[in-house]
Amino acid sequence: MHLMRIALPLVLLSLLTSPALAYTSLSDHFLKLVPSGGDDFDIDKGKLLAPILIPRVPGTPGQVAAQEHFVNFFHKELPSWSIEWFNSTGKTPVTGDREIPFQNLLFKREPPWVKEGQSNLLTLVAHYDSKIEPKGFIGATDSAVPCAILMHVARSIDRFVTQMHDEMAALGEGGTVPMDMGVQILLLDGEEAFLQWTETDSLYGARALAERWETSYHPANAFYKNPLDQISLFVLLDLLGSASPNVPSTFLPTHWAYQAMAKIEHRMRQLNLLESKPAGPFLPDAEKKASNFGRGMVEDDHIPFMRRGVPILHLIATPFPTVWHTMNDDGAHLDMPTVRDWARIVTAFALEWLDMMEVEPNDEIPAGR
Ligand SMILES: [Zn+2]
Repeated sequence: MHLMRIALPLVLLSLLTSPALAYTSLSDHFLKLVPSGGDDFDIDKGKLLAPILIPRVPGTPGQVAAQEHFVNFFHKELPSWSIEWFNSTGKTPVTGDREIPFQNLLFKREPPWVKEGQSNLLTLVAHYDSKIEPKGFIGATDSAVPCAILMHVARSIDRFVTQMHDEMAALGEGGTVPMDMGVQILLLDGEEAFLQWTETDSLYGARALAERWETSYHPANAFYKNPLDQISLFVLLDLLGSASPNVPSTFLPTHWAYQAMAKIEHRMRQLNLLESKPAGPFLPDAEKKASNFGRGMVEDDHIPFMRRGVPILHLIATPFPTVWHTMNDDGAHLDMPTVRDWARIVTAFALEWLDMMEVEPNDEIPAGR
């Protein structure tokens, strides 16, 4: 991604207002049950992260290996999730006339009763490609860790999504749009520039997908006109995994969602559920004043979606990690307590967004919490 220091036009901000759904905080008990992922984030053997700590440049075998890792995981462990590919090709400034494949992966769970265009979707996003230079670049924070975190979120919420859908079906609920909540995970390709960040040399996968979705019309009687319209919140994770991240709140229309996540972080720290010991909170901007928004932003995969009116929550460490776009952005330079804490925080946020207090389990708290 790329730092852009210009003000957002207000007219654009005004398009981004998201509907406030009924929102119930997770109980302390539920927060204590949120899993960290533990050894699955191990950089050598962990089943979520280790396989994608490799170069993942579009058009190379690493791209295919990363795709297989994601698809196999959902296929084997989360069979209720649908798997879709959004393939495009494009030329880049450094690969000549060759068409480079950019292949986004979409994993989705909707309520089983919904018709096309009837569910609102919490949309969790990260890019899985890695930068072509320097040669051998891994991109652990950029964005292997965010991808692994999203796999962990999917796995951790799955049981509750199933229970929610089963109970709603048994009670004959559902069929009203606010209640028909689902979740989708977008693993985007081609975020990185090949030569130098420009409008056309960056965001290859995101641009293709946003463009396609804009003109993928649902049936005329559907509540939402196209898949962009169905996105209740687009949560983009990027550059996460270094110690003491500072993730600002960027967009006033979604600041309330930022505040909800910041509150989760705060509560989890108070309950001693987080491992990291950062200088300050990961999400320090809960009290940011409305007049301080709109001063600048980081260009990233949200841009093509934001331009089309999708509400964005951008979780990106700013300033960027010191390892950013260097050979040091590898597994060895990650701060694992921070990685696991992000996994906990984002999982708890997804559970809360999806109103899972409705199906709060009475499981016992694991020892030590
Ligand atoms: Zn990058």
